[in-house]
This record gives sequence, structure tokens and C-alpha cells, in this order.
Amino acid sequence: MAKQTKGFCKYCGKEYTRGGMLRHLAACKERGKSLEMEKRKTRCGYFELVLTDKYNPDYWLIVEVKETASLEDLDSFIRAIWVECCGHLSAFEIDRVQYDKYPAEDYFWGEPSESMKHQLKNVLEVGQSFTYEYDFGSTTDLKIKVHDYRQGKGRREKIILLSRNNPPEILCSQCGKNKAEWIDPENYYEEAPFWCEECLRKEHEEACAEEEFDEEEGFCEEDVYGDYIPDHFLPVCNSPRMGVCAYEGSEVYPDQFVPDKKEK
Ligand SMILES: [Zn+2]
Ligand SMILES: [Zn+2]
Ligand SMILES: [Zn+2]
Repeated sequence: MAKQTKGFCKYCGKEYTRGGMLRHLAACKERGKSLEMEKRKTRCGYFELVLTDKYNPDYWLIVEVKETASLEDLDSFIRAIWVECCGHLSAFEIDRVQYDKYPAEDYFWGEPSESMKHQLKNVLEVGQSFTYEYDFGSTTDLKIKVHDYRQGKGRREKIILLSRNNPPEILCSQCGKNKAEWIDPENYYEEAPFWCEECLRKEHEEACAEEEFDEEEGFCEEDVYGDYIPDHFLPVCNSPRMGVCAYEGSEVYPDQFVPDKKEK
């Protein structure tokens, strides 16, 4: 089996695999201190959720969500960090009930779905797993586990990222030595979908007449094939939706999670 991806603890910066992190978070001293220091007098319940790609457990997120947050809030978060490309539809399925952002009004397709306006405390229980789908065409499937629940001081943020996998190391499938930066979605399931910049330039250079290639600009004067990065290529990114539809990565969250404190 391949090496499991690791991630950093938000509070102390220590690095663990997903399972190790879940155990660590329950005991992290820095987290304990930080929760003590929260100032609000109100109390609130929080769910700890573990999100993973259904097919590739290398991609995971551990988040703490207020019990009063809605499924819609969770949907917005998942879109922002992992999946949003062109505003596709999405849905949660919890206990065989489907929750849609815009539930259909007519019942033509069978059981009508619920809306995402439900608060988490009314639909989730510790120990339960449920699913999330984004885009019913080229679907990204996620599994979400309700790992834990605690009560504590209130805070403003509805969702806090406690940890996430560090970007998996993907090598260029052409040269096998540089870090991959681009993926050819048309070749995703073929042998060599990943490219580094160097190999792309070389490929482009060979495809064009050599004298037309401007080393500095990185494209041909005649511009036969345009830029050396083909238009349909997508950037490699830390997400289960990499290489799918028009997904180019998150605009809000960096691929590498940065903890509050670095381990010394
Ligand atoms: Zn920690
Ligand atoms: Zn799309
Ligand atoms: Zn390469």
C-alpha cells in the first residue's frame, strides 16, 4: 500500500496521518489552551467531521462545525476548499434522505428531497457517515464521518479547519523526476496524464518548427499551438476534483494548510 498522506495540526503544527490526527486532536495541549482562551460566554455544540474523497483517501479534511450551522454552510465550505468549478448542483445524503440546495417542487422523480437549510444538530449524530456529491455529471463523491461532538464556548466562525492532507507528491509522468504541475484531463485514466513545465516546453518546441520557438517567451512566434500549456490542461491541485471539468483549485484556501503554530 502506498504511504498515507499526512497533515499538520492547526494548533501545534505536529504532523500526523488522518487517523493519527484524529487521536491527536482529542489530546492536543495547544488546542486545549486555545479553547480555554476563547472569550465568549455563550455555549455552543460542535461537530468534528472528517471529509474524504470516496475513492482516494489521500484527500482528507478534518473540520469543526457549529451545530447551529446549516448543511448549506457546509456545502459552501466544501465548494470553496475542494470542488467549485462552474456552479454545478450538489447534494448530501444522510440516512437515505437527500438534501439539495434547490429541492425540486414537483415529485415527478420520486421522493422529493429536503433543502440544505437544516441545521446540523437536527440531522447529524456522532458515529454516523453520510455522503456528498458535487456535479451530477462528472461527479465528485465525498464521504463524511461525524467523528465527535463537544460543547464549549461559542465562537463566531461556523467552520474551522483543524487539519487537511498535505498535497500528495505527484511526479511528471513524462520525465518521472520533476514535480507535476499540470494534468491532461483527456488522459486522466491513461498512462501519462501528468506534466511538468519543462516537459511541456520541450514537447511544444518539438511540435513547432524549432526556429519559431522563442526561448524567453516560451511560445512560438508563429504561435501555431498558442502557449506551451495546452488550453484544456488543468493545474495539479490538492483536491479530489483535480483534473475534472474546469476545476483549477481553490481561490480561498492554499493547497498547503498552514497551522497557527509551527512545531519547533
Ligand atoms: Zn496539536
Ligand atoms: Zn464544472
Ligand atoms: Zn517532466
